[in-house]
Formats: sequence, C-alpha cells, structure tokens
Amino acid sequence: MKAVEKPTLKTCPFCGEKVRKFISPLQQTVMFMCDNCGADVCFYGAEHEPRASQAWNRRATSNDSDRNH
Ligand SMILES: [Zn+2]
Repeated sequence: MKAVEKPTLKTCPFCGEKVRKFISPLQQTVMFMCDNCGADVCFYGAEHEPRASQAWNRRATSNDSDRNH
C-alpha cells in the first residue's frame, strides 16, 4: 500500500536549516518560519494548503539556483 503523500518542506533558502510551518492565528494563513535565522515567510495568493507548501518549495528551489554566483 502506498503511503499518503505528504508534501515535504524544503529547507530554509537563507540558511539551509529546517523550517516550521504554522498557521497565523490572526489571518488563518499558512506561514513558514526558520528558527535558525528568524526568517518568516507567507505567500500572497497561496496562503492555504496545499498551495502554501508548493509555493514554499518553489521558492526554496528557485532561490537555490539564484545563489549560484
Ligand atoms: Zn533560515
């Protein structure tokens, strides 16, 4: 049997550490927070799952290639 696919979060694009996902108590939107460097990110237009995690992973990936200089 195949396990339910859970989107795995990419690591922080700024410092490479793991990020935490949490729901903002005020707006009920999904945010991502890095305990290591203090980055906190949310995505306009993708504030809810599953789009929030997808947006995060896209951003983490594209930032990775941007850093190549
Ligand atoms: Zn970080």
